[in-house]
Amino acid sequence: MLWPLPGRGRIRGGVHPPEHKELTAALPIEEAPLPRRVILPLSQHVGAPARPVVKVGEEVRAGQVVAEAAEAPVSVPVHASIAGRVAAIAPFPHPAGRELPAIVIEGNGEDRWVEEAPPRDPERLSPEEIRRLAKEAGLVGLGGAAFPTHIKLSPPSTKPIDTVILNGCECEPYLTCDHRLMLEETEAILDGLVAIMKAVGAARAWVAVEDNKPDAIARLREAVRGKEGVAVAVLPSRYPQGAEKQLIAALTGRQVPSGGLPMDVGVLVQNVGTAAALSAAIRRGRPLVQRVITVTGRGVRRPRNLRVRLGTPVRDLIEFCGGFAEAPARVVLGGPMMGVAVADLGVPVIKGTSGILVLTEEELPAVRNVACIRCGRCVRACPMGLLPLYLGRAAEHRRWDEAEAYHALDCIECGSCSYVCPGERPLVQYIRQAKTEILARRAKGKKG
Ligand code: SF4
Ligand code: SF4
Repeated sequence: MLWPLPGRGRIRGGVHPPEHKELTAALPIEEAPLPRRVILPLSQHVGAPARPVVKVGEEVRAGQVVAEAAEAPVSVPVHASIAGRVAAIAPFPHPAGRELPAIVIEGNGEDRWVEEAPPRDPERLSPEEIRRLAKEAGLVGLGGAAFPTHIKLSPPSTKPIDTVILNGCECEPYLTCDHRLMLEETEAILDGLVAIMKAVGAARAWVAVEDNKPDAIARLREAVRGKEGVAVAVLPSRYPQGAEKQLIAALTGRQVPSGGLPMDVGVLVQNVGTAAALSAAIRRGRPLVQRVITVTGRGVRRPRNLRVRLGTPVRDLIEFCGGFAEAPARVVLGGPMMGVAVADLGVPVIKGTSGILVLTEEELPAVRNVACIRCGRCVRACPMGLLPLYLGRAAEHRRWDEAEAYHALDCIECGSCSYVCPGERPLVQYIRQAKTEILARRAKGKKG
């Protein structure tokens, strides 16, 4: 089914960095070996950490709940991703850059799972049952945000959703895991989409894909034929096309207000991987214990797309990909624009990890941080219509009130401004720090 896009079909500003997707785009998803040991942080999602329900020494099976959702409204459970013995419940290095509580399981080498739930048909479930199954499966957004899916599927009655956007843009350079999923698990993605539409009562959906994935577009177009209300939207390849607010504006012409959410304009955005995981949770009762990631960059010998068990240490996966091709300059979790550098290769893959990027010295962005020449490139590149040069200057001099007045909190941290700056100013790092300071001061103000 096709209809004209109400939006312009492209984002404001943005950049087009070298894609580097050729390293893995044609490589089918492979199963990573069963890890000997997994580290499962209690915090792999936005919201309150899960609470352990197992003890050290206890034997568990894959798929078993090891930590239940906290009582707070935003939380999800954590499940064992391998069978084995609980070896520790203690702080461990986390991708967030500090130690956080985690459950460590030593594998017994057997891939034994808890019994699968009887198969269910999403068409026959009520919206409430779909939300319950999403929560029980520990589902979160797999595009990187890791926001609990059942909360997104529960808009208040005052904010009806008429449009679902399934995000298959994958606009970050290097990453190809969503591309491969769209090619290899098309039916599961569309099955999950039906459940999402049913949960929020939306009659219309787009699967949004950038035009640099023609094979996935063809596959999806064929698969949506005859599906009422569902269409494939092809968008130009431009970073950050896949950012939620940008995607909504490009497709629907609706602007999410400052500080607002997609539901404020009647839209729900979910990543294609989340839709496939929701289908597995409903059809087979499969909790979120594994995901597809891209291990890539010139610094790793054999880049690959892998299905990995959550909690697998980054080091194991780099070894499985042939190890380092040369001494790496940086290892990043996620893409090069929004990913986070990790210092400790013992950190685990968690629910929001979309890739492991091993960058060489030549692949690293330069940072000279020379004085601003007011060329205005950062302003033209900013998809949020902000003034990054003034924001960066305010934050550099720790003038947080000024940064707030320049709408620092509207920054989506896409890094487009830093990317185009001829002075190689670390604008996004400055702005990120300003956001942290502004939010901390607000929280303190509330307490005081
Ligand atoms: S791109 Fe860099 S040099 Fe140009 S105005 Fe922005 S901060 Fe200044
Ligand atoms: S100011 Fe924020 S939103 Fe604008 S380009 Fe920079 S990082 Fe992106």
